[in-house]
Amino acid sequence: MKIAPISEELFQRAQHSIPGGVNSPVRAFRAVGGNPRFMVSAKGPYMFDEDGNRYIELINSWGPMILGHAAEVVQEAVLKAIPNSLSFGAPTRKEIEIAELIVDMVPSIEKVRMVNSGTEATMSAVRVARGYTGRNKMIKFEGCYHGHGDSFLIAAGSGAITLGVPDSPGVTQGVAADTLTAPYNDLEAVKRLVEANKDQVAAIILEPVAGNMGLVLPEQGFLQGLRDLCTKEGIVLIFDEVMTGFRLAPGGAQQLFGVTPDMTTLGKIIGGGMPVGAYGGKKEIMNFVAPAGPVYQAGTLSGNPIAMSAGMAMLQYLQSHPEVYTNLEQTTSNMVNGMKQNMQELGMNYTINHVGSMFSIFFTEQPVTDFESAKTSDTTMFGRYFNSMLQHGVYLAPSQYESLFVSTAITDDLVQEYLQANREALQEASR
Ligand code: PMP
Repeated sequence: MKIAPISEELFQRAQHSIPGGVNSPVRAFRAVGGNPRFMVSAKGPYMFDEDGNRYIELINSWGPMILGHAAEVVQEAVLKAIPNSLSFGAPTRKEIEIAELIVDMVPSIEKVRMVNSGTEATMSAVRVARGYTGRNKMIKFEGCYHGHGDSFLIAAGSGAITLGVPDSPGVTQGVAADTLTAPYNDLEAVKRLVEANKDQVAAIILEPVAGNMGLVLPEQGFLQGLRDLCTKEGIVLIFDEVMTGFRLAPGGAQQLFGVTPDMTTLGKIIGGGMPVGAYGGKKEIMNFVAPAGPVYQAGTLSGNPIAMSAGMAMLQYLQSHPEVYTNLEQTTSNMVNGMKQNMQELGMNYTINHVGSMFSIFFTEQPVTDFESAKTSDTTMFGRYFNSMLQHGVYLAPSQYESLFVSTAITDDLVQEYLQANREALQEASR
């Protein structure tokens, strides 16, 4: 039984000086009940809280820790870079090296600009798409999350759904009017929107595998259908691969599904855990970005040398160790198959969505293919399941509407430990 009096005390204290006691809403435990655990360290597959509790990690800083926490290759690169100064605000060789590596790894990217978060990447990509096409409107999908840029906080996923504010106050009607939304996997709805807004749609942006309404996979033909539509209508197709880039394959979901967008947004993983994002795409489009072109986008700390060193180490490792992907897939399949077996033995039939090293369990028996079907999950039951897993020493995302991420640090023994916890938590949650 894991108890956490120090975390409790810290959470009470945090609420006096930090809104809601956390620096990002998804860290709060509001949707699942209880209060967040405050962490002090993490190594490999484990994270340790202020009370000395140890957790098996399945969030991994919301994705980037593909190699587990405190991976030596990444840490060594950071330590080596530190004595040369933490920031220059002037160009460095490392920025070219990481750009070349990204261009080499991601099929759609011919030029890339580094930024400091996924939010910056998506905001900038849409601005560039607008500048390039001379059009104003954008289509996004219900339940997809693209960071907290104003125009994305319409029908937004992740913490916005968890807290019940998919359309955030503070976003003006003017901005909202330029954001059109369609259900995920509904190509016909997108075609209708494009038809009704002829020559006005600058961009269609989506998570090619959605991770922010729980994990939802693109149905056969959906991504290709969007590709064909965008080509026909002169719309910029943007894949937001902040979660899936370098995780589902070295070249991300676009490589896995064989569909090439015009632009791609990246984040998290390219910083190896440091605050980094990037956006890139066709030369013709990226040449619109200042100072090459007229669309302004800038950042004092963009291309930060420490972050670039961490990212380079991570990407080089992934590029030179393709077995990472087969191993991750094997581990994740073992977890998912074991969960299915647990459920079968317990007479349960909940839905699990799974691709590569990402998965989600939904407490519903119907297939989950979009936000409407994701919402059929019994979130109260998810809350009980989450807290039970926490008590068994497994740290999951504290919301139904998130994906889990497996790292290479999860051994076969830990899979068994996880499955034992899963079995008990399923039983406890259904009582
Ligand atoms: N896009 C996607 C697909 C994301 O999952 C996220 C964050 N989870 C973002 C954008 C925003 O990234 P950040 O939190 O780094 O701003």
